[in-house]
Amino acid sequence: MSLAQQVASVQARIAAAARQAGRDPEEITLVAATKTQTSDTIRAAIAAGITVCGENRVQEMSAHLDDDAYAGARLHFIGHLQTNKVRQVVGRVDLIESVSSLRLLEAIEAQAAKLDLVQDILLEVNIGGEASKSGLLPAETPQMARLAAGRPHIRLRGLMAIPPAASIAGGNRKFFAQMRQLFVDIRTLLTDNKSDIDCLSMGMSGDFEDAVQEGATLVRVGTALFGPRPPVRTAQNEGQ
Ligand SMILES: *Cc1c(COP(=O)(O)O)cnc(C)c1O
Repeated sequence: MSLAQQVASVQARIAAAARQAGRDPEEITLVAATKTQTSDTIRAAIAAGITVCGENRVQEMSAHLDDDAYAGARLHFIGHLQTNKVRQVVGRVDLIESVSSLRLLEAIEAQAAKLDLVQDILLEVNIGGEASKSGLLPAETPQMARLAAGRPHIRLRGLMAIPPAASIAGGNRKFFAQMRQLFVDIRTLLTDNKSDIDCLSMGMSGDFEDAVQEGATLVRVGTALFGPRPPVRTAQNEGQ
C-alpha cells in the first residue's frame, strides 16, 4: 500500500473503532509518529491527510523544522525530554506530550516564562508501573496535575501513556481503562480549568483501536503508517 493508502486505512480503522464504542470519530486525532522518517516522507504524510506529527528526538525535530517539513501540520513532542534540551522544544511545538517529572515541568515553565508564552503539555503516566520507563506513577499524577495547572506559563491539556508491550491482543485494555479513569479524576480535581483538560493520548500501531474504544483522543501511530523502522539507537531516545 502507498503511504496515502496507509493513512486512509488507519483513519478508517480509528473511525470504525470510535463508532463501535458510540463515539464521534471527530473526537480522535491521529498523530503520525515520524521518528526516523525523512522530511520528504513527512511532507508526503501531511499531503495524505496527516494533521499532527509527533517527534521523539530533539535533533531530528530541529532538522525537520529547518527544512520546514511540518508545514501544514501541528507538531507534538512525544519522546523522552531532557531538561537541558527544553530550550529547543518549548515554543516550537504545539504540545509536549511527555512531561514526566517535576524537574522537567519546572524547566518548561522557566523557558516558557522567558519567551513570554504559554506551553501546552500533557503529563506522561507510567501506567504499567515499569521500572524501565519514565513517567509519573498513577498515584502521584493528581498532585503533579495540580502543580502543572498552577504554573502561569503552562497549560495542562491532559495525560499520555505508553503501556507495557502487550503480548496478546487486547492485553493493554485494562491500562487504557485505568488511564481513562485517571483522566476523568484529574478533570474533576481541576474543575476551574476543566475545559483545558481535553487530551488523552494513548494507543500505538498494535493497539490504537483498543485505545480509541477506551477513550483516547490522540493516538500515536508510526509503523502502521510508515512500515517498520530501522533498529533504534537507544531505548531512552525512543521514549519507551
Ligand atoms: C514510536 C512511538 C509511537 C508509535 O509507535 P508504533 O508502534 O510504530 O506505532 C508512539 N508513541 C511514542 C512515544 C513513540 O515513540
